[in-house]
Amino acid sequence: MSAKINAVKGMNDLLPGAVGRWQELEALAREVFALYGYREVRTPVVEPAALYSRGVGEQTDIVSKEMYVFEDKGEDRLALRPEGTAGTIRAFIEHGAFVDGPQKWFYMGPMFRRERPQKGRYRQFHQIGVEAFGIAEPALDAEQIAMVEDWLSRLGVKTTLKLNSVGDPACRPAYLADLTAWLTERAGQLCADCRERTAKNPLRVLDCKVPTCQPVLQSAPRLLDRLCDPCRVHFDAVRAGLDALGVAYLVEPRLVRGLDYYVRTAYEFTSDALGAQSAVAGGGRYDGLVETLGGPPTPGIGFALGAERLALILEALGRPIPVRRPLVFLVAADEAGAAAVLKLSSDLRKAGVACDLDARGGKLARQFKQAERVAARFALVLGSAEVAAGEGKLKDMTTRQETPVKLAGLAAHLREAAT
Ligand code: ATP
Ligand code: MG
Repeated sequence: MSAKINAVKGMNDLLPGAVGRWQELEALAREVFALYGYREVRTPVVEPAALYSRGVGEQTDIVSKEMYVFEDKGEDRLALRPEGTAGTIRAFIEHGAFVDGPQKWFYMGPMFRRERPQKGRYRQFHQIGVEAFGIAEPALDAEQIAMVEDWLSRLGVKTTLKLNSVGDPACRPAYLADLTAWLTERAGQLCADCRERTAKNPLRVLDCKVPTCQPVLQSAPRLLDRLCDPCRVHFDAVRAGLDALGVAYLVEPRLVRGLDYYVRTAYEFTSDALGAQSAVAGGGRYDGLVETLGGPPTPGIGFALGAERLALILEALGRPIPVRRPLVFLVAADEAGAAAVLKLSSDLRKAGVACDLDARGGKLARQFKQAERVAARFALVLGSAEVAAGEGKLKDMTTRQETPVKLAGLAAHLREAAT
């Protein structure tokens, strides 16, 4: 045997036994998002690296430390997408979608960040996210946040919704100057990362997870106290919208988004199902971003959810993985039976009945073993006698009961039995 080759560190296989959970959460996302008028967009996994330098920001961890960048045969600098917003906006602009008025889009797919792999943190992971373009009004923010909560609660996941406003270019600069001064005075009490961020991305210091930084930051000046009137009015209206929709939230003045382009609404859904509170989904408003990426001024708001983290939560909650199993397993008793089984399976599948068979044929016991392995609901043995009679015995694999059935009309009979 040759030496085996393993997957890249931090990049996971999803085997058939686990995929059912993903299919469930994805299917529910498609269903719920459609109820709110969001339509799916699919964009490339590889984009020009410049898209992220401009659209996410050079100073962010994502671009400065975590992005996979490569030269395409000495031509372009390309990147594996680390997030979905920039690419979605690029597509929105490139195809002139803005001429059609406000748009609500969603996406799902793999993202890549070169982080240290640990539970819930991988180098290839999957995000399910949405972007809504063209509406600046707070009713959209409330509707979108309520949609996330609707989706998660249909999955039986209880989360905490944290809400904040990160201001806008009118009120943030003055606040940032004060914050920077405040942080600089306390540099000695902060971790090395925080000291570095104080200069580059001071807002990000506020959500430092290092335990010794937390108490220091508790008394930091709050942007919420310094919002300009339009930002204040917007924030109050988002809150009123959520109240009206019956969505509970916590105002979290130190909640910031890691990306530079957010304005006003910032939100995060966290869960304690994985031990420490961890972020499952993060979102916010980015009214200047479409323009930054070369489009016409277009407000927008979106979120992204980490699908691995959601799957881990569903697992921790003990939610069963939906399994698709054959309704019937056809067992061949002899050569005539084997031919009949092949033909009957084809007829059943054409009639929409999930069925399976053991293509090896052979001993009945082994075929029944296979029927159990695939968790078939019923089994039907066909041999020359059954073929001649046009009739067989349908065995319920759970109760072991056998009922005579006519082979003609079997599909209808099975569908009846399944309900
Ligand atoms: P964190 O603070 O956990 O690093 P982030 O701010 O980098 O999160 P976002 O860029 O907002 O995360 O991405 C949205 C969601 O994607 C996160 O809430 C998380 O659920 C998920 N996510 C982010 N990075 C990873 C990763 N490396 N592996 C798995 N999921 C991830
Ligand atoms: Mg991160």
